[in-house]
Amino acid sequence: MARAHSTAGSSSNSDSCLSGYDLDLDRAVDLIQKSGARRVGLQAPEGLKRALLALARQIEEKTGAEVIISGDPCFGACDVDMELCREVDLMLHLGHAQIGVGPDNVIFLVARMKEDIRDVVEKAAILLKSKRVGVTTTIQHVHKLDQALEALKERGIEGLLGPAGGRVKYPGQVLGCSYSTARALDVEEYLFIGTGQFHPLGIALATCKRVVIADPVTGEVSEIDTDPMLRRRFGAISRAGKAKRFAILVSKKPGQKRMELATRLKALGEARGLEMFLVYLDNIEPDRLLNLGAEAAVSTACPRVALDDAAKYRIPILTPPEFEVLVGEREWVEYRFDEIEELIFVL
Ligand code: SF4
Repeated sequence: MARAHSTAGSSSNSDSCLSGYDLDLDRAVDLIQKSGARRVGLQAPEGLKRALLALARQIEEKTGAEVIISGDPCFGACDVDMELCREVDLMLHLGHAQIGVGPDNVIFLVARMKEDIRDVVEKAAILLKSKRVGVTTTIQHVHKLDQALEALKERGIEGLLGPAGGRVKYPGQVLGCSYSTARALDVEEYLFIGTGQFHPLGIALATCKRVVIADPVTGEVSEIDTDPMLRRRFGAISRAGKAKRFAILVSKKPGQKRMELATRLKALGEARGLEMFLVYLDNIEPDRLLNLGAEAAVSTACPRVALDDAAKYRIPILTPPEFEVLVGEREWVEYRFDEIEELIFVL
């Protein structure tokens, strides 16, 4: 999931942006031609947006269809631009694997990172303490998992992949909001192959097990430490404990919308004498909350809103399980990471 913000650039930027990835554009062109689509939508996370102008040009040249680029931020397959879907015959959503069943005119095109992972996995094997480890990664590296298992085997380590299912399309894949492939395994340790701290933190918090990171981009290996995050979250719950008025944030994004959960939390808070109100919005940003007068918020949207972006907000933002701790509905014995089970279903 790409979250870094960037602006669209020139075609040379576009080429360099996609040079590290394999994108099955031929399949997309084939599908556009076979479907007879005259208008095609293009949507991508910020990290791939620089490639969109060149891609749009190629698609227009090869198919004769008119291309419309989604200019809104896109954080995952949960975040299909439904408005654009209605404007076009076919939509290409780049960089993410499908979650559940979405609009039937959307084609998900995964951007597969070309970078080999063998070397970094060999390096990470030195940090692993077990002979049986769960192996996990994000969608960009899923196609290289065989390479990882082989590299581990050569060092006498059995690598296991948890099964696909629910929001997760491939064995071993994790999402920022779903660690089912890790939780399904009976192992004492995990290897996470990928960049950033959020996913390995999620695995460690969802399983309470040790996680070693192998970053194929930097070539660095490390072990995740959950303590700083847990301290921050405990601090947020304590600050929210002083609040009397809470906003429960509900996302409009098709794969982040958890209205039932939000209404349950609202009732929970009201039963404890708190003033609770529901706020329905698309992109959750600090400015949107400024004038509402809430003293604290609970985000039922992507868990990254509360866990990754908390420092941007003036008020404490909790995840649903953290709010349950606050109102005494759940004990802080073991931290419960907020995972989303809902799929996208568009009828
Ligand atoms: S809800 Fe899940 S899939 Fe969507 S942006 Fe967040 S982590 Fe990614």
